[in-house]
Amino acid sequence: MRCPKCQSVGQSVSSVTVRHMVLEGLRVVSDEEYSLCLNEGCDVVYYSGLDTLYRKDQVRVPVWFKNDASPRYICYCNKVTVEQLEDAVRNKGARTLRDLVKVTAVMKNGDCERQNPTGKCCSTAIMKIVHDILQSG
Ligand SMILES: [Zn+2]
Repeated sequence: MRCPKCQSVGQSVSSVTVRHMVLEGLRVVSDEEYSLCLNEGCDVVYYSGLDTLYRKDQVRVPVWFKNDASPRYICYCNKVTVEQLEDAVRNKGARTLRDLVKVTAVMKNGDCERQNPTGKCCSTAIMKIVHDILQSG
């Protein structure tokens, strides 16, 4: 499904996640199919069809890959930020997920479906960031 605002192709996300992420008082229909807009410059977070959409300011947490997110949590379950992750890799020698769990407490006691706005475990996003840091030297 494409984002009704920026037309980029989104990633599907469960209504359980959407219900936990949007502000109280907003109606979330449980049997709808929702998507997450992955475009960092678009202020739409979730949408379903054409008539339902939730913007950044209607979501409880900053969505880390969106522009101007602050703080930029990468692991929402344990409130670990992208900056802490970078510090662990650059200054504390962390290279693997196991290292990062030790240094930053990332991924401990995960409840990703309810805590992470993508509804997914953060490990893939974490390893991509680590890879990018190591590539850039
Ligand atoms: Zn969008």
